[in-house]
Amino acid sequence: MDHAAAHCRRGAGPPRAAPLTAMARLALWVRCTACGREFDTGIRMATRNFAKGTFAANYHTCPHCGARGTYRKGDYMTRDDAGAPQPAPG
Ligand SMILES: [Zn+2]
Repeated sequence: MDHAAAHCRRGAGPPRAAPLTAMARLALWVRCTACGREFDTGIRMATRNFAKGTFAANYHTCPHCGARGTYRKGDYMTRDDAGAPQPAPG
């Protein structure tokens, strides 16, 4: 048996503030700048990717009023994606 990927794992490190699991995912929501209602952008990403990532202006269209606006990283609200139906991987 080969374990080619085994070396990717780090050894036991200091515990982080948040318990990270491989499946920890965030749903990114924003609040519409026109009507003020929150909506799901459809973006899903791992917690640590969101923490490390940078977001330029992204366009999202509000499903409530149809207004399209640009949103930056600071505008995103993170929601736990647990329990939401997940699309088939791949
Ligand atoms: Zn709206």
